[in-house]
Amino acid sequence: MASGSCACQYIKYTSSTAPSKLVNCHCTTCRKQSGAPYQAFLHFPAKSIKWEVEPTAWKSSETASRTFCPRCGSTMSMSLNAFPDFVGIVAGTIDDDKLVPPASAHIFLEDKASWYELPADGTSRWQTWGQ
Ligand SMILES: [Zn+2]
Ligand SMILES: [Zn+2]
Repeated sequence: MASGSCACQYIKYTSSTAPSKLVNCHCTTCRKQSGAPYQAFLHFPAKSIKWEVEPTAWKSSETASRTFCPRCGSTMSMSLNAFPDFVGIVAGTIDDDKLVPPASAHIFLEDKASWYELPADGTSRWQTWGQ
């Protein structure tokens, strides 16, 4: 139903469902890994994602792991140990833009870059995790 890929097209995935929501995370790890003010994640059930080639995983904290393309370095996903049924797919990797819902929240604003001003986009705002 949904499909996506990294910048060099080595990593590709498909999903059997559309993403349930789009959340923008401003935590320090997301900012550094994306090289942008925040990382946009699409929420999917983990079992709905099929990787054509598995991306490389690394443990980004005690509670989460992230994946990237070993060839071009594109960030692909994040998984939380506490929620094994969930995967956050990096929104910029999706190919079917029409399947992406409007953003619902900005989270981890306690880490927000001071040089980035939030848009008046009607989303909910959270200092740490959202709901
Ligand atoms: Zn790649
Ligand atoms: Zn984050």
